[in-house]
Amino acid sequence: MTDPKKQVVLMKGIGVSSGIVIGQAYFMERGVVEPAQFCYLDSRETEGEIERFKNALKESRDQLSRIKKKMEDDQRGKEHIRIIDAHLMILKDNMLINDTIKVIKEDRVNAEWALKTVLKDLMEYFNRMDDEYLRERSTDIEHIVNRVLINLMGRKHEPIADLKTPSIIIAHDLAPTDTAQMVKGMVLSFLTDVGARTSHTAIMARSLEIPAVVGLESITRKAENGDTIIVDGTTGTVIINPSESVVEVYRRRRERYENYGKALFHYKDLPCETKDGRRIRLVGNMEIVEEIDSLVEHGAEGIGLYRTEFLYLNRKDLPSEDEHVRAYKQVVKRMAPDPVIIRTLDIGADKAIAGAEQAKEINPAMGLRAIRFCLKNIDIFKTQLRAILRASANGKIKIMFPMISGIDELRRAKALLEEAKEELCAEGRPFDRNIEIGAMIEVPSAAIIADLIVKEVNFVSIGTNDLLQYSLAIDRVNEHVAYLYEPFHPAVLRIIKTVADAGAKAGVTVGVCGEMAGEPEYALILVGFGIEQLSMNAFSILRVKRLIRSINYAEAKKICKTIVGLPTAKEVEHYINAKLPGLYREEFWG
Ligand code: PEP
Ligand code: MG
Repeated sequence: MTDPKKQVVLMKGIGVSSGIVIGQAYFMERGVVEPAQFCYLDSRETEGEIERFKNALKESRDQLSRIKKKMEDDQRGKEHIRIIDAHLMILKDNMLINDTIKVIKEDRVNAEWALKTVLKDLMEYFNRMDDEYLRERSTDIEHIVNRVLINLMGRKHEPIADLKTPSIIIAHDLAPTDTAQMVKGMVLSFLTDVGARTSHTAIMARSLEIPAVVGLESITRKAENGDTIIVDGTTGTVIINPSESVVEVYRRRRERYENYGKALFHYKDLPCETKDGRRIRLVGNMEIVEEIDSLVEHGAEGIGLYRTEFLYLNRKDLPSEDEHVRAYKQVVKRMAPDPVIIRTLDIGADKAIAGAEQAKEINPAMGLRAIRFCLKNIDIFKTQLRAILRASANGKIKIMFPMISGIDELRRAKALLEEAKEELCAEGRPFDRNIEIGAMIEVPSAAIIADLIVKEVNFVSIGTNDLLQYSLAIDRVNEHVAYLYEPFHPAVLRIIKTVADAGAKAGVTVGVCGEMAGEPEYALILVGFGIEQLSMNAFSILRVKRLIRSINYAEAKKICKTIVGLPTAKEVEHYINAKLPGLYREEFWG
C-alpha cells in the first residue's frame, strides 16, 4: 500500500495516547491554514496553475452559495446572510484574483504561495486604513482566502462524525468538540501540529483508546491526503510513506502491544492492594456516557471524575435539567453500587460551549472558567445542581466543584447547592440529602490552604493537569512548553504531599484525578504519599493495578521520603527509575 516513489519522512511528536496504527492520512482543516511549501514552476506549468486557482475560487463560491441557500431555508437572520454576501463579493474582487494570477505568471510560483503573498499585501493595505470599519474587513479577507487555500490544497472542513473510511486524521489543531465526535474504528488515530499531553483533546484520545501524537509542528506540511502513515502513540513516532519492511516491523510491534493489553486482563478481578495490604481504589475518568462500558470492562470501582462539560459541547443550546438527569442516571445505574463523582461544569480555556455568554479572553486558562463561570451564571449552574441532586435518588452520587481557589468560592457553591436542595424539597422531589461534597485541588492557592478546605468538604481530589499548569506556569495546550511538564518537579511533589497530609490529618479522603494518576511511575509516588483513590482512563487501570500489586506500601513511603529532598525532577526520575525495575517492569516490546 506504500508508494515507493514517495519520500519517507520520520517525525517525532508528543505521544499522548498509546497504541500502534498503520493507515491512510486524511486531512481535516482545523485552526490555522499553513500554506503548502513554496514551489517554483516551469514556464509551461503556469497556465495549469492559474486554472487550478480559478477552480478553487469557483469551488469556494459554490460552497458559500450552498451555505447561503441553507441559511435562507433555515430562515437565519439577515445579518448572517449579509456576511456570506460580503464574502462572495471578496471572491469576485479583481485585485485579489488578478494580482494572484499576475504573481503566478511573473514569479512562476504555485497558486497557494501566490495567494498568500497577495493576502499579505492586502492585509497591510487594509491595516493602514484610518476607517475602523474598513480595517476590520481585513479579517473577512483573511477568512475567505483561507477557504480558497483549503480548496487549493484539497483539504476539507467537515465534521469528524461524517468520516466514511477508517483514517488517520491530520489537522493543525483539534478541539475537544472534535474529539468528542470521534468514532473508534473510523478514526484510527490523529496527528496534530500543536498540542500537549494534558490538553483535553489528548485526554479524550486516551479515554477513547485512539492512538494519537500531538505537537508535531509540521505534520500538515509534511503529509498529504492518502499517504500511508505509521503512528506509534507510545513513543510519539510518526513515519510517513514507510517502506514495506518498516511496516512489517510495526505490524509485529502492534501485535505485541495488543497481546500486552490482553495479558493485563489477568488483573481485572484481583484486588487492588499493595503486597503489604494497603488498599487503593482505582476509579475511572469519563467524558461521555459511551466510555462507561470500557471502564467497567477494565474493572473501574466507580467514577472518580465525570467531566460533565462534554454534555454541553457540539450543540447550539444548553442541555435542559431533564437531559442532565437522564445522562447522570444512566451512569449511576451502570456503576451501581459503586459511587460516581460528578464534577460540575468546567467550561472555559480549551472548552467552549454554545448558549452561554463567554467573553473572548486574552488569557482564558486563568479567566472566567469552571466554578468562576458557574458563580457568575447562576441559572446554568443551578440547572446542573438540581439535576445532579435529582439523579442522586437513583444511586451513589458525589458532587465535586472544579477550580476552587479559596474558601469563599467553595462556600458560595455550597450555598447554591443548599438552595437547589430546598427547591427540590418544596417540589417534593426525592434526592440524597447527605450527598457528599468535594473540591478539586488544582489551583496552587487551594493546595496551600488544603488544611482549611478539608474542613469544608467530605473529600478532595487533586487535579494534577491544572495543578502543574498553574504551579509550573506551563500552558497545558502549548507544545512549546510541553518539555516543562514535569510531574516529578520538587514543587509538585511538595504540593501533593501538603494536600495528602492535610487530608490524612482531618480524616478526609484525598484522591488524584489528573493524568498523573494513570501513569505507573507517578502512581507509585502518589500511593507513597498516602493517596487512597486514583482516577484514570480505562486502559491505565490495569497497568496501575499491576504496579500497585507489585509494591510494598512501606517501600513506597520510604521512596517518597527520599524524593521530597531531591532538588530536581531529573534526579527524582533517576532515583525512581533505579528503584522501579526491582519493583515493577512494564515491557510490551519484548
Ligand atoms: C485536572 O486538571 O487535573 C483535571 C482532572 O481536570 P481537567 O483535566 O478536566 O481540567
Ligand atoms: Mg482541571
